[in-house]
Amino acid sequence: MPKVVHTVAELHKILQPLWRKGEPVGFVPTMGALHAGHVSLMKLSRAGGNVLTVVSVFVNPLQFAPGEDYDEYPRDLGGDVKVARDAGVEVVFAPSVAEMYPRGFVTWTDQDKITEKLCGEHRPGHFRGVLTVVLKLLNIVRPNNAYFGQKDYQQSVVIQRMVTDLNLDMKVHVCPIIREADGLAMSSRNVYLGPKHRTEALVLHQALVRVHELATGGERSVKKLYGEVKRIIGQAKSAKIDYIAIVHPETLEDVNDVSGRTLIAVAVRFGKTRLIDNVLVE
Ligand code: AMP
Repeated sequence: MPKVVHTVAELHKILQPLWRKGEPVGFVPTMGALHAGHVSLMKLSRAGGNVLTVVSVFVNPLQFAPGEDYDEYPRDLGGDVKVARDAGVEVVFAPSVAEMYPRGFVTWTDQDKITEKLCGEHRPGHFRGVLTVVLKLLNIVRPNNAYFGQKDYQQSVVIQRMVTDLNLDMKVHVCPIIREADGLAMSSRNVYLGPKHRTEALVLHQALVRVHELATGGERSVKKLYGEVKRIIGQAKSAKIDYIAIVHPETLEDVNDVSGRTLIAVAVRFGKTRLIDNVLVE
């Protein structure tokens, strides 16, 4: 069984001997409701030469806007500990909100430009909350290697930028998207989908596979690729598109044509459930 700790002090007791000896620590930050996508990050940490892997489970209130799903977000620490055990993780860090944000907390981390696009445009304040909690967690765990999923592509860009800009001495690993057998990207939010929306949600992956095929086959027109994504997603009656983005993979600026590396990312609502997915055209 992994050690389950709830305070920074308990965690530091475990980590201090490793820090002293300079032994590499791996870190996988999560909001829990762990699935095979999270497990893939844990396994990469275990295989990545770290002597110990810490998984954090913390539903961060700072990154949810009023009216979003903070209260409903699935929480199952008992189940998460079992998943972490099966993945061979040594430590689960599950702090309370009061442990992370004690009375008097007023300091935030923020970023210009890249946080304003894609999800940032539709979820104001979201990345300020993400950056703040991730910087805190990185300062608490002081990992040598931190693992994030390409599933949350913009988040991975924003975090890599923060690590560079603020001279954090660690390596950020961005890991492949793990999918269900039928192509739906794994997400803790998939449990919200009823059977109808679950079936409809397959259009996301279908649309991305199709435009990836077109783009690698030589289609350069943003307009054509955009139109194709929109058409395929539109086949799902309940789909409400937040955005379809065809952008530079680092600046997240719109591209004029798909000639270099390009990110194609989508955010779509099915009822109250908002799903994201993406593909990189290399
Ligand atoms: P979350 O618990 O949703 O905040 O995710 C925690 C970490 O797991 C983030 O770095 C996510 O990008 C990553 N992650 C979530 N879903 C997947 C997936 N399907 N495949 C790979 N990584 C994922």
